[in-house]
Amino acid sequence: MEQYDFVAVGCGPYNLGLMALHESTPLKGICFEQRDQLIWHEGMLIEGMTMQTHYLFDLVTPADPTSPYSYLHYLKQAGRLQTFIIQESMVIPRQEYNRYLKWVAHQLESIHFSSRVTDVREDGDGFVVTVRTGKGEEKVHAKHVVIGTGSAPLVPDSFEKVVHTSEYLMNRDRLRTAERVVVIGSGQSAAEVYLDLLRSSDSSQTVDWVTRSDVYESLEAGKLGEEIFSLDYVEYFHALSYEARQQLSASFERFRNGVNPDTLTAVYETLYQRTADGDDQKTKLLTQIEVDQVRHVDGAYVVKGTHQYTNQDFEGKYDAVVAATGYRPVIPDWVSHLPIQWETKTEWKVQARYDLATSEPLRGKLFTHTNLEHSHGPAATNLGMAVYRNAIILNEIAGKTVYEIRHQRPFTTF
Ligand SMILES: Cc1cc2nc3c(=O)[nH]c(=O)nc-3n(C[C@H](O)[C@H](O)[C@H](O)COP(=O)(O)OP(=O)(O)OC[C@H]3O[C@@H](n4cnc5c(N)ncnc54)[C@H](O)[C@@H]3O)c2cc1C
Repeated sequence: MEQYDFVAVGCGPYNLGLMALHESTPLKGICFEQRDQLIWHEGMLIEGMTMQTHYLFDLVTPADPTSPYSYLHYLKQAGRLQTFIIQESMVIPRQEYNRYLKWVAHQLESIHFSSRVTDVREDGDGFVVTVRTGKGEEKVHAKHVVIGTGSAPLVPDSFEKVVHTSEYLMNRDRLRTAERVVVIGSGQSAAEVYLDLLRSSDSSQTVDWVTRSDVYESLEAGKLGEEIFSLDYVEYFHALSYEARQQLSASFERFRNGVNPDTLTAVYETLYQRTADGDDQKTKLLTQIEVDQVRHVDGAYVVKGTHQYTNQDFEGKYDAVVAATGYRPVIPDWVSHLPIQWETKTEWKVQARYDLATSEPLRGKLFTHTNLEHSHGPAATNLGMAVYRNAIILNEIAGKTVYEIRHQRPFTTF
């Protein structure tokens, strides 16, 4: 059986960054991805939408600015460095970030596509990992495992036959021709879908946006607020009690659900333009409404909910519904065979260095990028912070410093 220092499960940006950084270490790693190619949120690669992170927060630069897998190197290879510089923008179009990820993935032989990890069992001084490929089943041995299985769309059971935002582009033609369409939810994805539908709609189409949030909240935190995306803050958060972390997480709702101010401005400007000639715009923006049911009856949708403060019933009839209801972490079934400790039924206990706590000592470690928000705070799903996380994980796997992570102190004391 082939032996590895680590097996990475899943190839989203987090484990892709891990594999890119591992190339210049003495470690022998392999990554298995169940899909036949790297696909990053393909349903939300809407033209004109941008990343929420600075271009230097690519897969490698904060850990190793000399890496050949940097975004700047991608731009140079793609013949776009000059135009990127002239453009003077710090943000990357989302479609281009996806191209960058594919460019990195194509160069890494350690990534195996069409390979689904179906089991991980303790064995000797590590784990036996079972992988299903087109050719059948194979097993490899790894000292450590890095879980990067990502997230899956979360749609309430009471929402019948709606389109989740993760499938927006696959359904866009149909949504654009529906006479009455509603987007349910707040957050960046909801705002982008609403804006996109609004821009393409004419005066004959109704496009509504319903959210339970009190207002359409902006993500803007200011420079000091952004310091929660720092190693100091992550350490501080992790050391708190579970209850304190829960309390703090609730106060960070805005970072999770807030909308990029540029997107909100674009929504406002589009609405303003549409009403410039005095036409009644066929769109309603409804806040503070908790939608609890979407029924699909005779090809149409009945959306029901309640106003959170007046308790008045809400009911709307639509021809299409888009649910911007978020994602849940993908926790593989096979973890049930491993002696993992859990903080709650769905939240595993994660140590400071991203390895899972176990009820009995294991020879190898199970690291995770997935299901970390409760243990490591809002930075858990931030692409920039994932680079530091990968450097920490690789140092742990190597048992020595392969990536120097100099502590860059934020101005705020946590
Ligand atoms: C539309 C959208 C835009 C976002 N934009 C930003 C942004 O601008 N900045 C930012 O910081 N964050 C952003 N995020 C948040 C976060 O960075 C992304 O969700 C990111 O894709 C998470 O990466 P990941 O590697 O955990 O998982 P994913 O991208 O979900 O990838 C996980 C992979 O694991 C594979 N897999 C699962 N199980 C197995 C298995 N058993 N065997 C093999 N393979 C398996 C899946 O097929 C999948 O390819 C965004 C999120 C969304 C939804």
